[in-house]
Amino acid sequence: MELLSRSIRKIGPMGGYQFARQICRNQPRILMYHRFSDSPVKGWASSECFEQQVRHIRERYNPYSLVGLMKYHREHGRMPPHAVVITVDDGYRDFYEHAFPILQRHGVPATLFATTGFIDRRLWLWPDKITWILDQLSHVSREFTIGSFKVSEGALNGESRSELWKRLIAHALSLPDEVKHEFISGLACALGLVFPDEIPESFAPLCWNELKRMQEAHIEIGGHTVTHPSLGRVTEAQARDEIFGCRDALNQHLGQQDRTFCYPNGQPSDFQPFLPDLVREAGFLGAVTAFPDAQGISDRYLMRRHASGDNMFQFHKAVSGFELLGHRVKGDRKFELEFSPT
Ligand SMILES: [Zn+2]
Repeated sequence: MELLSRSIRKIGPMGGYQFARQICRNQPRILMYHRFSDSPVKGWASSECFEQQVRHIRERYNPYSLVGLMKYHREHGRMPPHAVVITVDDGYRDFYEHAFPILQRHGVPATLFATTGFIDRRLWLWPDKITWILDQLSHVSREFTIGSFKVSEGALNGESRSELWKRLIAHALSLPDEVKHEFISGLACALGLVFPDEIPESFAPLCWNELKRMQEAHIEIGGHTVTHPSLGRVTEAQARDEIFGCRDALNQHLGQQDRTFCYPNGQPSDFQPFLPDLVREAGFLGAVTAFPDAQGISDRYLMRRHASGDNMFQFHKAVSGFELLGHRVKGDRKFELEFSPT
């Protein structure tokens, strides 16, 4: 009995993946990655794991960059069969060190979404500031509050640290953009910490030359705003500056190109109805969210993505279309409103 259930668990998904791959052959899947490393780090794609995934994509699917997929659709009036797109957010240097050589080796294109103020080294990505603050501490010596956020006294070990990190990120995301920055500075100040002038190596961005080299080697460099705010927490004028400013920086440093766009954080609460129109007006050919649901990629300015990284089970679910089918069966729709531009 034991053996039977183990076998079903093992063979079931394999058959399920095959089935999903066939059913979803005309529904491209967009995979989402963030960070890469040489050795295993939780949530990051290690070189070994990523190479296995890239090889699988090369052998079983048709890999495209996102802009390549959009252009294919424009030229043929349909999507290519078995298409898969690898996308990577933010613009960290580890992409160049660990992922790019693997993509090159297997001739697989991808899309990297760059936060241009980060590439310019004018700012750190703000979640990294929260990570850095917690990395400096082994305990919080006194209870304090910043606005409505309370930090309790106590040791910071693995679990309590990640719990506090999640609460801090969620709180920061709920704030208007400038209040968020004040909150993060206030937190550092309350803990007696001063941010280093230079971005620490572990949070370092790519430079423009590296982006240029990758663009010449079939990596699309897409837009991801200038400062990585939640676009659900900014005014329309700020959103315009973030989207158009990012486009201008990319074109100035990398030359005029067709590109796509990625909404920072990309959850349903990070959207406002005017955003897809702004992104389209800026000339981006499409845009992606950071969550999947039953909609798939039917709305070109709100194309859903599937998480990938170090977890091979999640990778197979995502790449095969199994996850997409699951959402379709349940009729999952994450947006109340359809923001789709007409
Ligand atoms: Zn991002």
